[in-house]
Amino acid sequence: MNKDNSSLLPGKVALITGASSGIGEASARVFAREGATVVLVARREDRLKSLVEEIRATGAEADYVVADVVRAEDTARAVAHTVRRYGRLDVAFNNAGYGVGRTPLHLMGDDLYDQIMDVNVRGVWNCLRDEIGAMLASGGGAIVNTSSVGGLLATPVAAPYVASKHAVIGLTKAAAAEYAAQGIRVNAVAPGTTRTEVVGAWFAQNPGIEEALHQATPQPRTAEPVEIAEAAAWLCSDRASFVTGATMPVDGGFTMV
Ligand code: NAP
Repeated sequence: MNKDNSSLLPGKVALITGASSGIGEASARVFAREGATVVLVARREDRLKSLVEEIRATGAEADYVVADVVRAEDTARAVAHTVRRYGRLDVAFNNAGYGVGRTPLHLMGDDLYDQIMDVNVRGVWNCLRDEIGAMLASGGGAIVNTSSVGGLLATPVAAPYVASKHAVIGLTKAAAAEYAAQGIRVNAVAPGTTRTEVVGAWFAQNPGIEEALHQATPQPRTAEPVEIAEAAAWLCSDRASFVTGATMPVDGGFTMV
């Protein structure tokens, strides 16, 4: 456990959604390493349980709540559990998201549109409302939402995903503006393509796509989940005390060119 002054999140109580895999799983480890007590949220209980055990074995404190971020009663339960068990909520990383598709817009069904908008927009909305309520009660906090490079520019055959990730940036700015004077900072990270299980499977099914992405990226490689986690941890920390309403690309320069 790391609670000294050199760590980023000493003594903070942090909630992380989408913690059962990928960027959220890496973030759980990074936030705990940086001194936070972490409450992990997702739907796959087996993964959350084993990650909590792994983090506790390092000496850090961790717990999990099985919840679907699309359901307002679930996000309310996750935040209420955190406050009841640990006394307050200091930090939240709203990272749960859904991004399959790669279907031309004119062929895309409403079901996929609804699913993507539900998880990526309503999910962040539900979390923000509950987290801000808890943070106001304890005098402030810091929130980071996961957008995407698809929230900053348009990538083809992913219209609902692009719309949802632009909406995450809108929600981030709106909440940041509304609560800045009350001590709550709200920012976003915009990852480039990141080597998670889903992305690994996508690369395997589409030979050549990884190389094509590298060619479009000034740092010509795929991000590792921990690289997004490190940026989120910093934005959540007091070291980012005058940063709010910002979207930080973590994309090897993809959106710069
Ligand atoms: P991932 O491994 O598929 O992780 C997604 C996480 O979200 C999982 O933990 C999943 O857990 C959770 N989740 C999905 N729907 C949920 C729901 N309804 N309720 C609660 N949890 C839910 O993918 P990832 O790449 O780490 O994605 C994390 C975030 O990064 C997403 O917002 C994604 O859009 C964004 N992003 C990823 C990339 C990339 O290249 N990987 C690039 C840009 C942005 P359960 O299935 O257990 O619920």
